[in-house]
This record gives sequence, C-alpha cells and structure tokens, in this order.
Amino acid sequence: IILGAHQPPNLFANASSMMQPSQRRHMSRNLFLSELSQYVRKLLEKLTRTIEPESRLLSFGSTANGFSLRNSDMDLCCLIDSDQPPLAASDLVTMLGDLLERETKFHVKPLPYARIPIIKLSLGPSQGLPYGIACDIGFENRLALENTRLLLSYASVDPTRVRTMVLFLKVWSKRRKINSPYRGTLSSYGYVLLVIYFLVHVKNPPVLPNLQQIPPLRPISHEDMHFGEHNIWFFDDIELLRQRWRSSNTQSVAELLIDFFKYYSRDFSYNTGVASIRAGLLKKESKGWLNDFDGSRYSETSRDRNRLCIEDPFETNYNVARTVTKDGLYTIRGEFMRASRILATRPERAINALAQLCE
Ligand code: ATP
Ligand code: MG
Repeated sequence: IILGAHQPPNLFANASSMMQPSQRRHMSRNLFLSELSQYVRKLLEKLTRTIEPESRLLSFGSTANGFSLRNSDMDLCCLIDSDQPPLAASDLVTMLGDLLERETKFHVKPLPYARIPIIKLSLGPSQGLPYGIACDIGFENRLALENTRLLLSYASVDPTRVRTMVLFLKVWSKRRKINSPYRGTLSSYGYVLLVIYFLVHVKNPPVLPNLQQIPPLRPISHEDMHFGEHNIWFFDDIELLRQRWRSSNTQSVAELLIDFFKYYSRDFSYNTGVASIRAGLLKKESKGWLNDFDGSRYSETSRDRNRLCIEDPFETNYNVARTVTKDGLYTIRGEFMRASRILATRPERAINALAQLCE
C-alpha cells in the first residue's frame, strides 16, 4: 500500500506462529501495528539517508512509550549525527517532502516554516489498514525523545495501573472530543502528564515516585544531565526501582479513576495553579504565567495561553496546555464533572457506567 508497486514483507510471519488461535485475532492486530510502524520507520529512514546519509529516524510519542491506540499517529524524529554542518531543517523538510511524494503513496505535507519544521504524512483508510496511517516527522527534537523515555519509565514502574489509566483517558478524551489542541482542548501528552501528576503528587500515599527527584547512584557530569539549558536528568534504572519501590497505595484502577475525575472537576486550582510532575503544585505567578496581565499591558493572548497550566517536565518554561482556550477549559472541566457524576452515582454498575462515559 505504501510503495505501490512493491509488496511489503509478510508482517505477520513471526507474530502469528507464536500465538494461541484464541489470542490470534486480537493480538495479531497489535503486533501488526507495532511491526507496521517499525516497517514504516525503516522505510522512511532509508529514504531520508539518500539526502542526509548520517541521519537516524527514531520513534517517540505513543508508538514508543506503550500508550498507543489503534488509531494513534506515528511520531518520528530525525537526528543527524554528522560532523559536517547539517542542512537547515527547513531545507531538509522541503527536499525530503519532494522525495517522499515521488517515492511513496503517502499524502505529503511539508511545513518547512512552522515554529518546529515538520513533514506530515498520511494514508487514507483501506481494506488492509482500516485506520490509515498518520505520521509526523520532526527534526532534532531530542527533548521529545527524552520525555517519551520519561513517560515509558513511569509506565514501567506500575504498568497495570498507569497504562490502564492512561489508555482509558485517551479513549475517553477522544470520544468526548476534548483531545484536540488545534480546536482549543488538550493533547494526549497533556492528559498523560495530568495522570502522572495525580499519581505522584496528589495521591497520598503516592502511587508513583518522582523520578526527576531521585538522585543518581553515582556522580553524573553537568553535560550528561543537561540538554542545552534544560535539565533532563531522571532516574531510569527501572529494574532497580521495581525491586525497591513499593507503593503503599493499594487502590484499584477504578478507584483511582474515580478520584482522578473528582480531583480535576473540583480540587485542582485552575485559576492559580500549575501542575508540574517535576516539582508538584506551582503558582502561575511564580512562573510568570499570568492569566490577566502580560507585563503592564492587558493581553488576551497571554490570558488564553495560560487558562490551564501544565509544566513540561524538561522544557520548564513551556506550558504544554497553552492550546487550551477559555471555552476549551470549560468543556474539559464539564467533562471531568460529568465523568465524576456518572461514576459516583453508579458504582454498582461499573461496566455500564464506563460504557456511558465514552458514549
Ligand atoms: P496519540 O496516541 O494520541 O498520538 P501520543 O502519546 O503520541 O498520543 P501526542 O500528543 O501525539 O501523544 O504527543 C507525542 C509527543 O509529542 C509527546 O511525547 C511529546 O514529546 C510531544 N508533544 C505533544 N504535544 C506536545 C505539547 N503540547 N508540548 C510539548 N510536546 C508535545
Ligand atoms: Mg502521537
């Protein structure tokens, strides 16, 4: 489908032989998707190397941190390891965009002059791929690779509770149409940060440790801890952590979800607070993320940028929720309240309640 004339390799060959027949139908789809994304990544990497031989394409976002749904997009990052000065990102986007248009069946949309230059690729749904493929290729976005690794590490500390909560919230927020940064609501990444913030800083006892505050076991140089001015340290020896970290919080996923919705419908201080997984609850004022004044001038833009404040774990001067508008926040909070109400009034019919939540 992707290359037109060429046949892709038999992606199912290894996967399906390892499975019980009863598992095959469900499992093969997940394996198919992960092998498909690997196949697409390798294919695009091969094409990119014809322009920039020292480049690598790496996955980030949900295809790399275990939070993907069958209709998730693929996020790819191009890193160039050359000693020579690399091509400017905008030139690379234009050249690679032309090449992909010629060599593949993707619809290609290069955005060379965006704040972060990217190429958007898409394939419409077809019989073999009912959800099609959507893929963004960005360049040198090392912080995104690091925050993907951070989220993967959090998911690995308590896979059952963290992954289930995140996947539930992603399905729910997409169904309720509040997962759309271009339309004034919040990205999936933003919802994942809200979940981690809740499990590290709101729950008492906490479900997760704060990986960014655990000191390294041996001294680490300033250079290894930083990327540019950003401190990217976090404790990533997950094997060791799983041996040593035992949360005394024994709540089930359902109980945690009920508390999550309750907390974000009435307890989180939207007007003054900033959710930071690195440092806990911060004040908008202390970060200069004021929502009424921009310096001495009243600024609608600044106000609309900081309705909901979620600090990026590494790029700490960046509000991940800056896309959330006044109306968007009103809708999101309304959905948290609706979810909280449905879960509180029908605890005995949890399955029905969960189905109704996603209606
Ligand atoms: P989905 O399955 O819906 O695609 P996802 O987990 O891939 O969800 P995205 O929102 O697509 O989440 O984000 C993918 C990656 O892009 C994140 O891991 C993060 O590195 C980066 N990212 C996305 N949105 C933002 C944002 N608002 N600010 C900073 N980085 C972001
Ligand atoms: Mg994604």
